[in-house]
Amino acid sequence: MWPETMPPCYYKVRSEVIRLGLNAITATAKTIRETFGVRTELPRDFKLRIETEPSLTHLPPCQLARTRGGYDPFRKEIRLIGSAWCWKTLVHEVLHALSAFHRHEHLARLSVREWRGVVEGLTEFLTGYVLYQARDKRNCYKYWLEKTYTPCQISYEPYVRVFAALTQTLVPLHALTKLFFYDKTKPWEQTYAEFLRTYRLPDLLRQPDAYQLEDAITRTLRETGRNTTAETFETLIEDDLRELLDYSKTKP
Ligand SMILES: [Zn+2]
Repeated sequence: MWPETMPPCYYKVRSEVIRLGLNAITATAKTIRETFGVRTELPRDFKLRIETEPSLTHLPPCQLARTRGGYDPFRKEIRLIGSAWCWKTLVHEVLHALSAFHRHEHLARLSVREWRGVVEGLTEFLTGYVLYQARDKRNCYKYWLEKTYTPCQISYEPYVRVFAALTQTLVPLHALTKLFFYDKTKPWEQTYAEFLRTYRLPDLLRQPDAYQLEDAITRTLRETGRNTTAETFETLIEDDLRELLDYSKTKP
């Protein structure tokens, strides 16, 4: 993948993050809170590790063929690795740190194993929303969609497609954020049960891959008489990413 000519913003963002350290994480968390209108704080004793060399060791939450970073919910540590991370990685990992999935220990265990694909896909879908909202100030959203540069390009695309099609047909974005962000005032299981009941959806987290997730949703929509929604959902999933990830089309 390297060497690859990177845009000037890549060098600027990276040197700023390295200089600011933990303050870069708290600033990103603030941007995320403002973007979604949520109040979740980062966990106490939160850590950041920036590694200059690409790592070959096992990374529990976010292992990719091209490893850019990861969040370890048990150590409460974000890792930014080698030359492949930039702002989109930072947003993605800080979202993990703010999410219910990586805050409750029993959910974290499931989120790094059985639920991993779905949780990563949802995290990346919300990452895209943050990039989209900052599109006048940064080029990240365009680079993310068009896969212009390795560090900026979209990850977990098959899962992201499912969440994008869902939010254009059935589920408002605010319902997904309610499910995603840590809220100490309400048991997460209750929020999830209410979510599934409201939108009459199958258990999204217990699907082994993105294709079975798509099938389970389509089947449930048809079984509950929502054939038009099922058809729109299926058509949208195949759509061009620029249409599918145009967040102005998501239900607010
Ligand atoms: Zn991740």
